[in-house]
Amino acid sequence: MYLVIDDEEKITLIDTGHDAHRTYLVKYIENLGMKGTDISRVILTHIHVDHSGGLAWFVDKFNPEVHVFETDADAIENGDMRMTLASMFKGSFDKTRVDVRLKTGEKLGMGKYSFKVLHTPGHSSGSICLWDEKAKVLISGDTVFADGSFGRTDFPSGNLGELINSLNSLAELDAEVLLPGHMRWVTGDATKHLKMSAKYIKMLM
Ligand SMILES: [Zn+2]
Repeated sequence: MYLVIDDEEKITLIDTGHDAHRTYLVKYIENLGMKGTDISRVILTHIHVDHSGGLAWFVDKFNPEVHVFETDADAIENGDMRMTLASMFKGSFDKTRVDVRLKTGEKLGMGKYSFKVLHTPGHSSGSICLWDEKAKVLISGDTVFADGSFGRTDFPSGNLGELINSLNSLAELDAEVLLPGHMRWVTGDATKHLKMSAKYIKMLM
């Protein structure tokens, strides 16, 4: 989960984790002198339950605007157990509403940041990254990780060929900061890591 706090002290929460994460996150926000109700928007990088499982809880408690990539919105609203991997990992997924169906290329302002939605299928068909070209920050969900790693493609709607294409296009970015959905983040030389991932995935072919 990542928080982007804008000039008006409103929070955009990127991914909602699952059960174990949310109490910790709310405590963290309170330690910043803010409240859960300051979360005005939630964006999902993709629908897998370790990124989306807490969504219904956040919606019920704090009523943020929910942004999900257009092809994943129905699965969230229908509580799709297979596509969210809930049946595989957790056993339940609470369906909830989606307010905004994101399209690729769309820009989302967050204070001094402006993140562009990049559709990067492969780990799942509706996976997105958020890219701020000016700040050179990439929030990458499970598409790409640090140190040449990348998301697995063996879950429903995963596709190795699509992930190769997605990693190739991400490797073109002039990025400094990489904020992935798992493992460590990178500051300073993110492009090097993106290029490594694009190179290493070809070894699976
Ligand atoms: Zn995932």
